[in-house]
Amino acid sequence: MADVIVELEKVNKYFGQNHVIKDFDLRIIEGEFLTLLGPSGCGKTTILRMIAGLEDATSGTIKIQDERVEDKEAYERDVNTVFQSYALFPHMTTYENIAYGLNVKKIPKQEIKERVREMLEMVQLMGYEGRKPDMMSGGQKQRVAIARALINKPKVLLLDEPLGALDLKLRKQMQIELKRLQKKLNITFVYVTHDQEEALTMSDRIAVMQEGVVEQLGTPDEIYKYPGTKFVAGFIGESNIFEGEIIAAKNGILKVAGSSGEKMTLLGSGFDEGEPIQVCVRPEAAVYSKEPKDGFSLKGTVRNIIFVGSQYRTLILLENGQEVKISRGRKDRDIKEGDVVYIYWEDEDGFGIKKKGQETQK
Ligand code: ATP
Repeated sequence: MADVIVELEKVNKYFGQNHVIKDFDLRIIEGEFLTLLGPSGCGKTTILRMIAGLEDATSGTIKIQDERVEDKEAYERDVNTVFQSYALFPHMTTYENIAYGLNVKKIPKQEIKERVREMLEMVQLMGYEGRKPDMMSGGQKQRVAIARALINKPKVLLLDEPLGALDLKLRKQMQIELKRLQKKLNITFVYVTHDQEEALTMSDRIAVMQEGVVEQLGTPDEIYKYPGTKFVAGFIGESNIFEGEIIAAKNGILKVAGSSGEKMTLLGSGFDEGEPIQVCVRPEAAVYSKEPKDGFSLKGTVRNIIFVGSQYRTLILLENGQEVKISRGRKDRDIKEGDVVYIYWEDEDGFGIKKKGQETQK
């Protein structure tokens, strides 16, 4: 089994009366890029700060490399943190900022020189060693902060929205660079973001959080294709969600009646006849046609078709008043606004969410 490098077990955190982290369990695997993803205020930064030793847990166990660290100071833990705000020393040059940790440790000057050079190359900042932070762009400053955090070769690098202050283009470029760096150095990254696209692009695994708990833990692919709860389905990518009840469950195929009796089918196991279900389908997986399709009776009217650059987005209004979003790469010449259409999907493109998965939702 892969080695666990950071382990949180039944961790709770209260700020006064506010219970922000609730019986939180997570095992982070050595060398992985794990992202904590969730809406603002769900507790991502608090988890990171507790691993770093910048915040105490109210209860529970935190282990780094099998060793309990609750009583260890931040500097005694083999982790480093990169913040959104860079936190560089403003009076120091790039060289001095990156060398800082090694100077504190009284490493010989020649070795420091070599290691700073290696880091400068790695973050592509050769030639900038004499500049101070106020003479550099946001992306360059963040590279200095990353180099400074990596020079001690920590076992784990904690990153709190490190690209949050950058514009979209630079952000995308830095996402690729950071991922490349992580794979090259084989350091465990624990990354905090509320940007689902960033999480899907960079992570080996994502822990989707809501209100102090992990809602779902999995690879980007698993989380996108098989969201376990309605919250995850709505937070990661877009979904059309149909409330319904299972009328037949046989051989891994579910037949469902929607709230107004609309028929639909999907693959699914572990469901029983008569059970309530939420059927989810992604906009890019749903299709429509002028002809009804066996197993489906989702009938609606095309409200509008909008070109959004890379695709066409069609909004269809069902007879029960629900709106369904569908995306397509090409425009369908036969269908125009006002037409009556039938919506369906391939069985494997629908996924069912158990109603009881909603019990944690508010
Ligand atoms: P964001 O994406 O906005 O940074 P987050 O998911 O990182 O949010 P946290 O910063 O971990 O969330 O905060 C979780 C909850 O704890 C919030 O309700 C926040 O107001 C509260 N909180 C965080 N730090 C403190 C503190 N020092 N004192 C009191 N409450 C705090």
